[in-house]
Amino acid sequence: MNATYLSSLSKEDLKRFVDSFDTVLTDCDGVLWVENNAIEGSPEVLKKLRELGKKVFYVTNNSTKDRKDYVSKCLKLNYQATEEEIVSTAYLVANYLKSINFRKKAFLIGSAGFAKELDLAGVKYVGFGPDPMPEGLTTLGSLEGGLESLLEPDVGAVLLGFDPHFSYPKMVKAASYLSDPNCLYIVTNTDERFPVSSRLIYPGTGSMVAAISACAARDPLVVGKPNPYVAEAVSKIHPLDPKRTLMIGDRANSDVLLGANCGFRTLLVLTGVTSLDDVDKWKKSSDPEDKKLIPDFYLNKLGDFLQLL
Ligand code: PLP
Ligand code: CA
Repeated sequence: MNATYLSSLSKEDLKRFVDSFDTVLTDCDGVLWVENNAIEGSPEVLKKLRELGKKVFYVTNNSTKDRKDYVSKCLKLNYQATEEEIVSTAYLVANYLKSINFRKKAFLIGSAGFAKELDLAGVKYVGFGPDPMPEGLTTLGSLEGGLESLLEPDVGAVLLGFDPHFSYPKMVKAASYLSDPNCLYIVTNTDERFPVSSRLIYPGTGSMVAAISACAARDPLVVGKPNPYVAEAVSKIHPLDPKRTLMIGDRANSDVLLGANCGFRTLLVLTGVTSLDDVDKWKKSSDPEDKKLIPDFYLNKLGDFLQLL
């Protein structure tokens, strides 16, 4: 945790570093690609890491795609991938519900990829898609049929991922279901916003989670980074030795913090959310929580790793 510039290591130290891990967990957006374009040099680095015998997992907080879609995206952008190597949050939620033998209906606030993962896991859900504002919703007296007309029976979980149709009616329903303490509350991730451009702010799933949590006065189970749940899911299919695992990411409060929470080595790349200025700020801070955001190593972009390997 001292944010060493990887390129500044001596040849011997670099070799020691590369030999020190056998598993790589890599973030996707901001490390491997930005939207639909591969980041220059990243595919070659992953290829080389595989040639060196490293096991690679793609760990993304993005809940809008199912694992099949991610495999297609990886292959299109020149990243080798199998479904087993994709650790995506919609899949993690679906898999969790399957593992606890969830038999009720879920209220889903999410995208098509999330719905597809629930279908694959055999989880029934309601609420998917646009939800127009019913007349009288905010003045309950005039809502035809009352609140009960809005709520489905037998809903045992509220699931929340990125939903471009997030709305007031969905908030009303989610918070109402969650007023039952037995109703599960599971969210994919808490990334507050997307780094689309400096002028346009796009709220991420975390902003939607904040709205529902405030209204429902409940804290969710978060399956995505930085929650170690992600690492537990990987370790079910591949033995993970934290000391021999490298987490690569662009966002400190999800990727680097996951590494800190799990005891992984961390490599921050500067092609996404977190900047060196942020890291400097955390170095100067006396808050121990800020210290967890400082990576072990950093590079300007993942592609710079190639000449070091
Ligand atoms: N959630 C959504 C909806 C996204 O579109 C993205 C990035 O595109 C993310 C989360 C962050 O994904 P990652 O963890 O791969 O950076
Ligand atoms: Ca990212």
